[in-house]
Amino acid sequence: MAANGWILFLLFATGLAVGSFIGAASWRIPRGLSLVMPGSACPSCRFPLEARDLIPVVSYVLSRGRCRHCGGRISLRYPLIELVTAAGITAMYFASASVGEFVASAVFFCFLVLMSVIDLEHMLLPDRLNLAAGALGFVFAFLGVTGTAPASAVAGAAGGFGVIALIRWLSKGGMGLGDAKFLAAIGVYLGPGGAVAALLTGSVIGAAIGLALMAAGKVSRRSRLPFGPFLAAGALVVWVVRRSALLDAFPFS
Ligand SMILES: [Zn+2]
Repeated sequence: MAANGWILFLLFATGLAVGSFIGAASWRIPRGLSLVMPGSACPSCRFPLEARDLIPVVSYVLSRGRCRHCGGRISLRYPLIELVTAAGITAMYFASASVGEFVASAVFFCFLVLMSVIDLEHMLLPDRLNLAAGALGFVFAFLGVTGTAPASAVAGAAGGFGVIALIRWLSKGGMGLGDAKFLAAIGVYLGPGGAVAALLTGSVIGAAIGLALMAAGKVSRRSRLPFGPFLAAGALVVWVVRRSALLDAFPFS
C-alpha cells in the first residue's frame, strides 16, 4: 500500500508504541508477571515510571539510558526492540496489498519479534504465545488475508511441528519441542511448504551466524544457541519474499 508523510509518521509512531509493549511483555511473560499490573518501574530503584519516561526511544535518548531518580542503567533492549518493531511494521505496510493483509503481517511480525527476544534471553518459546498466534493465524486464514487457505494452515501447523519432531527424533534431541511448536505456529501463516522453507532458510542463517560467532571467539562449538530467532528470521524472509513482486516464481509459495 502507498503512504504519504502523515501515514508514515503514524505507522512508525504506532510501531514504536507496539514495540514498547513487546519490550515489556518479553520481560514479564517469561517471569510469570502480569502484563498490566503493576505499571513499569526502574529495574534498579523500583521508582514508578511516569508518562515522560515512557515515550519510546525519545525518553531513552533524553535520559541517556539512565533512570532519572537513581541514575541506574536502563537496558538498550528497550529502544532496540522499539525501533525494530517500528521499522518492521512500517515495512509490512508497504509490502501489503490490503488493510487485512497488513494487520495479519503486523501481528505475524510482532509475534516473531516477541518470541525471538524471549528465546534469546531465556532459551524459551512460551506455549501460550504459540497458541495465541496460531489461533489468530487461523482467523486470518479464514479471512483470506495471509495467502494461506484454512486447509493449508492446518497442514502448515502439522508439517511445521512434524518436520522438527522428526529431526529431533533422528538427531536424538538435537532440537527442542519448543522449536517444533514455534514452527507449527509459523506454519499456520506460511502453510507446509512455507514452514519447511522457513526452517531451511533459518538453518542457513543460523549456521552462518554460528560460524561467524565461533570465528570471533564469542561462542564455542559446544555452546547452545537458541534456534527460535533463526526460525523467526527464516519465516520473515519467506513472508516478505512471497509478497515481493520480483519473486512471484518463488518455489515455496
Ligand atoms: Zn532508578
